[in-house]
Formats: sequence, structure tokens, C-alpha cells
Amino acid sequence: MTLLNVEDLTVTYATDDEPVHAVNDVSFTIDEGVNYGLAGESGSGKSTAAEALLGLLPGNGTVESGTIEFKGTDLTSLSDAERRDILWEDIAYIPQSAMDSLDPVMSTGDQIAQAIHTHRNVTDAKARDRVRELFEIVGLDPDRIDDYPHEFSGGMRQRVTIAMALALEPDLIIADEPTTGLDVIVQDKIIDKILEIQERMDSSLLLITHEIGVIAETCDELSILYGGKVMEQGSVDNVLVNPTNPYTMGLKNSFPEIDEGDEDPVAIPGSPPNLNQEPTACVFQDRCPFATDECGESHPDLVDLPNRNHRSACHRVKEAAQMRQAADEPET
Ligand code: ATP
Ligand code: MG
Repeated sequence: MTLLNVEDLTVTYATDDEPVHAVNDVSFTIDEGVNYGLAGESGSGKSTAAEALLGLLPGNGTVESGTIEFKGTDLTSLSDAERRDILWEDIAYIPQSAMDSLDPVMSTGDQIAQAIHTHRNVTDAKARDRVRELFEIVGLDPDRIDDYPHEFSGGMRQRVTIAMALALEPDLIIADEPTTGLDVIVQDKIIDKILEIQERMDSSLLLITHEIGVIAETCDELSILYGGKVMEQGSVDNVLVNPTNPYTMGLKNSFPEIDEGDEDPVAIPGSPPNLNQEPTACVFQDRCPFATDECGESHPDLVDLPNRNHRSACHRVKEAAQMRQAADEPET
């Protein structure tokens, strides 16, 4: 069954200058029990997409168009506040840099208890019991609920934010860069913990990260964003094993561990697109080694490929196999 269906979501930010077109016509669907990845370089619109669906955009952000259905209910007709109330019950959100935004002068347990009190009418004792239980779930010592954020390491603080997000037993966990800034061993542990919890609570997961290696390990399906556009989408097996979009190919080569690590990572040359105008050409055109004149004329539609659960936005999608081969050849 479909849990979340985002259709043609477009989000802009007002600035003193031109508006920023951060998310452009983005569509994706998360079915129950599915782990879904949202990948893309910094600035591709990942956090904006998540904040828009949660009703948590900053004041200068506007959802220009699109529909967001959660469990069959269209959320776009609701106010941001109404949407947040509905979603809090069902969606756990671990925002980007969550572990740095814990209140330094309040004990971690009190912060979680406060979140519980906001949404549930429970006694202080009950809330504390629940906090102890949540600490155990995320692998923290329940005797430390009165400790303050600075008394924990980065990885432990991230566990606190995960515990807070889980307080209400969500159907969907949205985690925005949950491991960025942590060392590699701690990263693995956090990812394992999120997966363990997600399985135990039988929730779905929307994992947002620029590291597609992490998505390859943990997700069933993904969307690759670039310049606020979905470039490629579908099952992890299709998209990451046989990418059909030059952007995905470049992104994959910049994270070689998912390719058995036989080559050094190669960052995609060039810089991200100007988001101050709606795309009139393929957003990846300037950096694409395979761009032709057609690519300068329009941004390609996201089209279904013949194999199941695979979509790509590329004017040269029919030549995907040749492009893939050329992209994989080491530079001479
Ligand atoms: P990162 O990997 O760095 O977290 P991201 O994919 O989450 O990046 P977003 O944070 O969604 O990207 O930003 C998308 C674009 O919108 C970027 O160009 C960013 O500079 C711009 N942007 C984000 N927030 C605002 C804001 N409040 N006002 C104006 N522009 C913004
Ligand atoms: Mg972000």
C-alpha cells in the first residue's frame, strides 16, 4: 500500500534577489515497508523536499504547486500547523544537524519528555518511563537520561535525536543526513540502529543523504536529485547497478565503494546549476560529458524505462549503455 505520494512538488525560496527554484516538479512514492533514499549533491533540494512535505519550510519558502498524499489524505489543503499536527503522529523526522540543535541547558531526557508531553496527555512518571525505554531502543544507557547533551559524544547525541523522533511510534521515519559529521564506524552503527528500529517498528524509511553508498546498503528504492529535479528514480538494483543518467553515473563514480572500490573517486567537474531561473535546458547540461544541442533546448521529462521500476530524465537515455561504458572507462 502507498504510504506517501508526492506529485509534481515545486518549491521556491523568496530572496532579496531572484527567487531560488529549489525543488522543481518532484514526484516520488513510498510504499509501506519500503526504505526509500533521496540522494544528490549539496544544494540539490533534498532537505527542501522533506521540509515541504512536513510543512516545515522556513518563512521564505513556498510550495508553488504539487500534491502530497499521506495514507490517502491530501495534505496540501491543510495549513502548515495542521499538517504538522497530523504528521507528528505518523512521521518521525530527524532533521539535518539534529544532534547539534539539542538544547544545551536541558537534560536529554527532559527534552524527549517534553516532546512526548506536547503530543500525549501522560504523567511525568509515564513520560520518564517512556524516555528510559527509548534510550534502550537506540542503544543508550537508560540511567543517563538526566545527562546533558555535552556529556555525550556526537554519535550518542544523534541517538538521542533518534530516540526523540521515535517517541510516538511512527509509520515513516525521515532521516536527513543522519550520519554526516560522524566518524565512519559510528556512521555504520547509527545506520544499523535506524534499520533495526525501522524493522522492529515496521515503519518505512526516507533516508536523505549525499552518500549513495549508504543508500545502496540500506534502501530498496531511490530518487536522485540534481538542481531540484529528479534525474533518475526506481529500485536501487536498477538505478545504481545500471544507471541510465549521466548524473547518476558521475555520482556513482564519486563514491567508488559501491563499485567494489577498484578506482579512486572522481568528483564530477563543474559547479551546481543556477537555481535563480526555472530550468530551460537540462539542469545537468553544463557538467554533462555527453551533452548535445538538444540538451540545451529543454529539460528532459522523467520517463519510464522498459524494465520495471526505473525512470530517467535524459535526452540521450536510449544511448545509456554506451554512455555507461564511456563513463566507466578510466581517464587516459
Ligand atoms: P545539503 O546536502 O547541503 O543539505 P540539500 O540537497 O538539502 O543540500 P537544500 O538545503 O534543500 O539542499 O537547498 C536547495 C537550494 O535552496 C540550495 O540552493 C540552497 O542554497 C537554497 N536554499 C535553502 N534554504 C534556503 C532559504 N531559506 N532561502 C533561500 N535559499 C535557500
Ligand atoms: Mg540538506
